[in-house]
Amino acid sequence: MELHILGTSSARPTGIRQVSGSLVQCEDGIMVVDAGEGFQTRYAMQRKRLKLHDKGNTLRASRVHVICLTHGHLDHTWGVLPWMHTMALDKREQPILVIGPTSPDVFDALLDSGVVPHSAPSAELARQIKSWQELGATSESLGYSVRWVLGDVVADRWLEMGSDGVCFLLDSMPQPEGWKKNRIQPLATLHSVPSCGWMLESKGGSGKFNRLKAAELKLTDQQKAQLSSGNDIKMEDGTPLQASDFRGQERPTTRMVISGDTAEMAKGLTSISGTDVLVHESTFIDEAQQWADEFLHSTSTGAARTAVACNARHLVLTHFSARLKDVEIPLSEAKGVFGSKEISVSAAMDGDRIKISENGAISHLVWSDDGWSS
Ligand SMILES: [Zn+2]
Ligand SMILES: [Zn+2]
Repeated sequence: MELHILGTSSARPTGIRQVSGSLVQCEDGIMVVDAGEGFQTRYAMQRKRLKLHDKGNTLRASRVHVICLTHGHLDHTWGVLPWMHTMALDKREQPILVIGPTSPDVFDALLDSGVVPHSAPSAELARQIKSWQELGATSESLGYSVRWVLGDVVADRWLEMGSDGVCFLLDSMPQPEGWKKNRIQPLATLHSVPSCGWMLESKGGSGKFNRLKAAELKLTDQQKAQLSSGNDIKMEDGTPLQASDFRGQERPTTRMVISGDTAEMAKGLTSISGTDVLVHESTFIDEAQQWADEFLHSTSTGAARTAVACNARHLVLTHFSARLKDVEIPLSEAKGVFGSKEISVSAAMDGDRIKISENGAISHLVWSDDGWSS
């Protein structure tokens, strides 16, 4: 599982940081979490960097099966529509799921009348989706299937917004089409508008079957199938073969959680049993706790307290205020919270990658003009 962080500033871009947007690659495909202004340009740039410095790692758009939005603030959503139009120009055929949170009131109103109530905040996602649909973000206009899904996350109620203005209730939150080993899950957070973080969970299981070894021994398809399903066999000359010798190491379940904007200790985050990586907003440093409380954001120590509460192995700080001059400050503040606890922490820059390998090892690959280094 690998995360590409394409924007690490809060609210407005700086000379070196752009607004929110990231992609998580897993075996089943790619999940995008937020796509603020200029997302498609940053995404194209990341692909170019990969082509130069990590050949074979392509991040193809056709592999993007889901866009998960954390909330409706424009620094998290304004890049969705133009990118969808570009994918239409590129003759995308694969379906895409776009999913995000709404409030219980808006949810009820949508089901009832299909109309967003006037009282809903301007950054209400339903409002944006309706206007995007009017601007051509429908399956009919784009030429590929788009499903717009909104959830009342705490109550686990989900609805789909049809392009004809009709909203209908879903039995459960849909998963990206065709995904088998990975699941997405919303985690309720606390911000000035309805919000949630997103978890990508990759189920562990038996290691990969060693095809090379099987080929070297010139095994038949039937023999391979036997070994692959865990049965020991004998070769024709009587040599015994043990199925366990053909399996790689058992893979642990891996989790990546991305918080979106939130006050610290959000219930949805602290209620999970653990995560390998928590990417948490750290808009302010500790001395600005008052602002964090007022605007429902987190400080670096708040992010660290949340990481402790949700049993994270590694914390990545992001969504920094434009005022922040030196990331060493939030990093050392977070470390101060961890004390002797075995949690590692790093600070994200645009272009960085966070990798969780099959054996569970975590690495933060830092982008510089010469490529990535860990
Ligand atoms: Zn934000
Ligand atoms: Zn926000």
